[in-house]
Amino acid sequence: MTSQQSLGQDASFQLQQIGIIHSCYRQKFGIPRQPGIVTAAETTLELLAPFNQENLVRGLEGFSHIWVHFIFHQTMDEGWRPTIRPPRLGGRQRMGVFATRSTHRPNPLGMSVVELQKITSGNGRLVLHLGAADLLDATPVIDIKPYLPYADAIADAKGGFAVLPTQMAEVKFTDQAMNQCLRYEQRTGRKLVQLIDQVLGQDPRPAYLRESSGRRHGTALWDLNVVWEHTDGYFLVRELEYLTAN
Ligand code: SAM
Repeated sequence: MTSQQSLGQDASFQLQQIGIIHSCYRQKFGIPRQPGIVTAAETTLELLAPFNQENLVRGLEGFSHIWVHFIFHQTMDEGWRPTIRPPRLGGRQRMGVFATRSTHRPNPLGMSVVELQKITSGNGRLVLHLGAADLLDATPVIDIKPYLPYADAIADAKGGFAVLPTQMAEVKFTDQAMNQCLRYEQRTGRKLVQLIDQVLGQDPRPAYLRESSGRRHGTALWDLNVVWEHTDGYFLVRELEYLTAN
């Protein structure tokens, strides 16, 4: 086939997984809707064979940010929807799927700009350490590209209906929850209090749960279920439960 020939309307393409995400987010509920928001979320991108060679990332360490292209693997079997009710609009208005970053798309492709903190290698593992991502643990990665400020950052771009929420909600801890967090931090070195504060502070509740004051919820972070409720205008972290490995 020449480059002039069209592939036809029903062309499909095969993609190869090049890496896998390791992150503190063990379920969708609680993950920020875009990267850059929860800075305490530790995330790594491990390149998989045959892409785990230093050659493939030579020169990448000079970029502070990268585009991570990935598959919305957890929702891909649910298919797609032509219109979506974006959480930004309180779930009241419908927008076209291509006007949103919804996970339910004709092709389940996601893209996130994330900070590249460092690249480490050893024992056959090549790992990119990322800042503030919005990615579920075990997300398959299909491509990585450097973020190019001169081309990708557009100072006067319009953001449509999607504006960054400016106010973070207040998050409080019961004594029991705070003690559990501090013990966990001591044992693992993870910044759990900050992580919970940022995850709940960006209000992870979908629109239909916003009215349910006092109802208990659970958010899975690392190997923990964080039990919390929204009451009197703030989030209260009640306790931590250990998740059992399945
Ligand atoms: N920044 C990406 C983009 O614009 O394509 C993702 C935006 S999407 C609105 C972000 C949400 O995707 C997260 O809040 C989380 O609920 C969901 N998510 C993250 N990783 C996922 C995965 N592997 N499968 C399905 N959903 C995922």
